[in-house]
Amino acid sequence: MKIYFIGAGPGDPELITLKGLNILKQADIVIWAGSLVNPEILTYCRDEVETFDSAGLNYDEVIAIYKKNSEFDGIIARIHTGDPSIYGAIQEQIDFCRKEKIDWEVIPGVSSFQAAAAVLGQELTLPQVSQTVILSRAAGRTPVPEKESIEKLAALKASLILFLSVSQIEKLTEKLAESYGADAPCAVVYRASWPDQKIVRGRLNDIAHRVKAEGITKQALIVVGEVLRAQDEPLFYEKSKLYDPDFSHGCRDAVDEAAGSKTDSKGSRGIS
Ligand code: SAH
Repeated sequence: MKIYFIGAGPGDPELITLKGLNILKQADIVIWAGSLVNPEILTYCRDEVETFDSAGLNYDEVIAIYKKNSEFDGIIARIHTGDPSIYGAIQEQIDFCRKEKIDWEVIPGVSSFQAAAAVLGQELTLPQVSQTVILSRAAGRTPVPEKESIEKLAALKASLILFLSVSQIEKLTEKLAESYGADAPCAVVYRASWPDQKIVRGRLNDIAHRVKAEGITKQALIVVGEVLRAQDEPLFYEKSKLYDPDFSHGCRDAVDEAAGSKTDSKGSRGIS
């Protein structure tokens, strides 16, 4: 038996990878997270597939399925929402496989934070604004280490994405405002890439009531950071060096305007 931990992507069934889809098509057993994985992806499975919704199973029950089938020469697809490496609880399953010498592989997926950035039309890393993206969450039933408290993360004023936290948005935006400033731009994306997706934009001092008015209490991401200024101030940042005509890199030579030709990254004239 081989267990594949597959990222299903954020919701849109077309956002699973080709590799993930190919495994899903061959799988004998599929364990999927019904709460956030789009059931449409199950239509790709073989008719004989056995499926389990992990929303109703605890860890021991999932492990019991692995154990029961450990001698079976087939494929188990364990489908996680987004990318399995982010709040996916895969480590304990991988550790189990390592201990029991069960073959396994992780197939990454598109995380919801990437889908949220896409629907916001937002690059998260703008030159001179922020070159760092922090993925975190507010403490809930799962505590967050003190060194990663919201106050400490906010002090960096980097692009910040909070998972699993929208129910605490009022308290969080108050804390975030202490570092980012009360009028810092903020967005909440509910069910990014699903047909019922909602985008709420605002500032740290007004987004909480907008989110409440939309009735959003779960399945959403909070995005904060100066980069979001791009929504109402196009080109407020320094343009990327990557496509700057004056900048050479490994794959492209700079344009030497005076000579009308290109120079390579060492400054010598190239043939263009
Ligand atoms: N592994 C997942 C995250 C799982 S934790 C990933 O990579 O996206 C579950 C949390 O992810 C939710 O509470 C919500 O904060 C976020 N989330 C998952 N799918 C989402 C979506 N389509 N839109 C917005 N947030 C989503």
